[in-house]
Amino acid sequence: MDQYKIPRDKHSISRANIDDNALKVLYRLHNAGFRALLVGGAVRDLLLGLKPKDFDITTNATPEEIKALFRNCRLIGRRFRLAHILFGREVIEVATFRGPHDQQSAQDKQKVKQSQGGMLLRDNVYGSLEEDAERRDFTVNALYYDIADFALYDFCNGMQDLKDRKLTLIGDPDVRYREDPVRMLRAIRFTAKLDLEISPECAEPIRRLANLLQDIPAARHFDEVIKLLLSGQGLQTYRLLKEYKLLQVLFPILFKDGEDDTAHAMIEKALIDTDKRIGQGKRVTPAYIYAVLLWYPVEQRAHAISCEGGMEYHDAFLLAMNEVLSIQVKSIAIPKRFTATIRDIWMLQLRLPRFGGKRAQRVYQHIKFRAAFDFLSLRAHIENDKELHVLVAWWQEYQQENPLPVHQHGRIRINKASEKKPESTSYAHKKRKYKSKKRSASTETPDA
Ligand code: ATP
Ligand code: MG
Repeated sequence: MDQYKIPRDKHSISRANIDDNALKVLYRLHNAGFRALLVGGAVRDLLLGLKPKDFDITTNATPEEIKALFRNCRLIGRRFRLAHILFGREVIEVATFRGPHDQQSAQDKQKVKQSQGGMLLRDNVYGSLEEDAERRDFTVNALYYDIADFALYDFCNGMQDLKDRKLTLIGDPDVRYREDPVRMLRAIRFTAKLDLEISPECAEPIRRLANLLQDIPAARHFDEVIKLLLSGQGLQTYRLLKEYKLLQVLFPILFKDGEDDTAHAMIEKALIDTDKRIGQGKRVTPAYIYAVLLWYPVEQRAHAISCEGGMEYHDAFLLAMNEVLSIQVKSIAIPKRFTATIRDIWMLQLRLPRFGGKRAQRVYQHIKFRAAFDFLSLRAHIENDKELHVLVAWWQEYQQENPLPVHQHGRIRINKASEKKPESTSYAHKKRKYKSKKRSASTETPDA
């Protein structure tokens, strides 16, 4: 064990940079006689001199023992059972050390479940600290900070990989991707986010196994895609997802008729703007980026429907919106509160050109006017269309001449469907876990 240990004076992590609530949890576990260590992104990011997004803890206490220690504790997940300790809006996640799932006792067999293709459907065998490291995804994510003596543990050569800025999977990449195909998305996310280089052994299987992502529940993909595209490195992540053929599985509709350069240019520009907003600490909504991602498929489909069936463009557009969304939610379960906004942004594209008089006023007072106007400006920029430019200029002037009270957008609601929860959140700082969790938000139904 000692050969893996890096004492306090040989590393740079200080308690001063660890979240107070995470420290409280670590100490409570430690004082109750359990092992308690910080692990994952927090240790990795602190070593890289970055501000961690969240603080994950691992312990030899079982979920039930953790629950007994903390009043503010909730046990979650079936596939991967763990404890959430709640401090107001902050969640500290505590996981029990995982053990190997290949040498199971009869009893353990119930705690692990694997699909025929090797995908882990349940992973609840507990083990030692060293075994826990083997169950993690990348070497740089398997570094531990021990609250007992402030030492680090590095069982998988993560420190060296961090120094070399290399992303390497622990174990056989093929097996590890098959166990959990989301690791392919995580590989891309960390490569982009931390500016690491993906090792050739880790990169090689991705294109070959990309289709396995189809077996992942669409709800999990929604969370992952937010982390991928709305964490501040959306552009780079998007390019890598495309290069590794993962985007094609997540958004098959974008590639149905080959690649559309205009569509991709629009997506890239939207991601550049989004990355900038996140960098400035501004809020972003997933609905906007989905509206951009799926805009050209909707337009194309609307044209096709109106040409084929001689239907009015407006009606064809409505049909196309529904078709595209119902195909998309099969791979990514976009909650209804977002699809309602996506529809608003799209529908307003049809209403923005009918400017003048009362109509303009009504469109202007629509709760999604601002997003729809930004969307229109983006289209004008990408398509370099004279009419769209004229329209943007007209609305720009209109807004200057008719300034709205700051709070007005948000009060007048035209589309009831988009009421309820605010869907604009600073996703750069929001914790969303990969582990399955109960979902209260309803999602768009396929083939709705
Ligand atoms: P982030 O900065 O996005 O929070 P993270 O590495 O902390 O990055 P989390 O999703 O918070 O990512 O997970 C915490 C840790 O749990 C990871 O660092 C890794 O050790 C382990 N982990 C997460 N997802 C997986 C997975 N799919 N397979 C194996 N280990 C995982
Ligand atoms: Mg984390």
